Amino acid sequence: MPQAPRFQVRDGQLIGASQLPSPNFNQRPEGTDIQLAVIHNISLPPSQFGGGYIEQFFQNRLDWSLHPYFQSIEGMQVSAHLLILRSGEVLQFVNFHDRAWHAGRSSYMGKKECNDYSIGIELEGSDDLPFEQVQYESLTEVTACLQQAYPKIQQHLAGHSDIAPGRKTDPGPCFDWVKFRNQLHHFKNK
Ligand SMILES: [Zn+2]
Repeated sequence: MPQAPRFQVRDGQLIGASQLPSPNFNQRPEGTDIQLAVIHNISLPPSQFGGGYIEQFFQNRLDWSLHPYFQSIEGMQVSAHLLILRSGEVLQFVNFHDRAWHAGRSSYMGKKECNDYSIGIELEGSDDLPFEQVQYESLTEVTACLQQAYPKIQQHLAGHSDIAPGRKTDPGPCFDWVKFRNQLHHFKNK
């Protein structure tokens, strides 16, 4: 029997991901197709991993007093659809049907407000540290799954720095696009 895929999209939910609902979302504009996946990195505090602070941040329950850096982001209400931890575990915060708040002021191929029509995927990481191989594996499988569910994404993968140049630098120079695209190609053609 063929192995069941690790991930599946059902009603805007990624089956195979842990669900941690975030209140930070709203509706996509009427009639908007999902047509772009945006890759980010995030770590809290910066360049430190684990601790659960990103999850708390996206769920508006981060204790801002725990670290001086947290005070610099105090009160910010953001989210992404997905977060891929250093362990490769995938968490979902916002249903794909809804608009997550990850891109900010942004533009892709002349089309502004990328949050309206994109899926945001955060990798736990930073601009100056390599990502884990298991993160590439999860990202590959998740992206292949999303491309099947939302075919317009097939041609449209971007980094946050691509859609908000000069303002954002993630996923950063340590994110290996060639490796990711090669893995994705191999995964989809196996
Ligand atoms: Zn970002």
